[in-house]
Amino acid sequence: MKILVLNAGSSSHKCCLYTIEDWLPSHPPTPLWEAQLDWHDQEHASLRVKTEREHLDEALSTVSRSGALLHLLKTLWHGPTQVIQSPQAIDVVGHRVVHGGQDYSSSVVVTQEVKAAIASLIPLAPNHNPANLEGIEMMERLLEDIPQVAVFDTAFHSQMPAVATVYPGPYDWLEQGIRRYGFHGISHQYCAQQAAEILGRESKESERLIICHLGNGASLTAVKNGQSINTSMGFTPLEGLMMGTRSGSMDPGILIHLMRQGYSADQLDHLLNQESGLKGVSGVSHDLRVIDDAIAQGNAQAKLARNLYLHRLKSCLGEMLMSLGGVDALVFTAGIGEHSASLRAETCEALAFLGLKLDPVLNENSPVDQDIAMVDSRVRVLVIKTQEDWAIAQACYYRCR
Ligand code: ADP
Repeated sequence: MKILVLNAGSSSHKCCLYTIEDWLPSHPPTPLWEAQLDWHDQEHASLRVKTEREHLDEALSTVSRSGALLHLLKTLWHGPTQVIQSPQAIDVVGHRVVHGGQDYSSSVVVTQEVKAAIASLIPLAPNHNPANLEGIEMMERLLEDIPQVAVFDTAFHSQMPAVATVYPGPYDWLEQGIRRYGFHGISHQYCAQQAAEILGRESKESERLIICHLGNGASLTAVKNGQSINTSMGFTPLEGLMMGTRSGSMDPGILIHLMRQGYSADQLDHLLNQESGLKGVSGVSHDLRVIDDAIAQGNAQAKLARNLYLHRLKSCLGEMLMSLGGVDALVFTAGIGEHSASLRAETCEALAFLGLKLDPVLNENSPVDQDIAMVDSRVRVLVIKTQEDWAIAQACYYRCR
């Protein structure tokens, strides 16, 4: 089965093609073809395509979003990066859809009704759901009745208990859909499943996991017996942890104060989503690697940003810990979680009171899908490479085989 995965973000579009034969491999295979489109502004983008034998880098100018996506897709069956004869060789297309609202608790085959639901959620995910719909409609035009599967980033959190979903505002907010949804669900669910594999299947029923997805966007999820019971992102992916450019949770009174000073909704949106977090506080970068370099040069603002990031992470870990009533394994994933040994060490140090003991050698040794706690640690510590695209491909396989 040839499965095309489309992962549309607000300023990028990642795609890959997997081949799955008669059974699902236990480890994620390397895609046959991977492509990424990064938008620099409304008309300019760069395209990178990778296959086992070829790499392609191209600058695209004066193109529309759909024109650029079509150009990207054509590299599958045209030119040096060609891996299939024609688009008809694709058996199923899987889409990461950021917002599935209250109704979708698992992946679904796309129908008119599903498309209408994704469209109706555009006000809640204005930067993502339109791009997701665009991808679905483009594949319909290209391949007419090809099966397509929508995999929602909110789905894993859809069964959270009411206390984790309701905001303490007026009750009718709930009827308007103003509630906590949670995001990064594809990654959190994938990591929960991988953690169960690494820890041994027999322990799955009693597992209490805290999954730390620390990338540019960042969120924590408390997982009990394979289910999300609390998560740090809420109505939008702005709530919770301090992130690369997003503030995370703030006193809402600050927004009221700024609005009274004349800030518009768009200006506040920009400030909180693009100019805050590590970038806003450090004044240096959203990237922890650049911040670490600045700290080494003696930059005090960069040091404050990193300390604040860790402080917020610890506070939020405390919340997840209390939701679970303890923790059996702490999971680190995404850019920072997978690659920053120092941040993992500092986080684990804060949990030493639980009997958590990190193995410093394993921690420094670029671990991938590995337990890096000492043998006698009372809490396991796992580093898991998140594989959202592979998780989407697996969902397609189960829905359409
Ligand atoms: P996204 O949320 O965009 O998918 P990623 O999960 O790829 O992001 O994470 C990107 C971030 O990971 C970078 O901005 C950087 O802060 C961080 N990162 C990547 N490698 C390292 C590293 N070796 N040390 C510290 N941080 C790293």
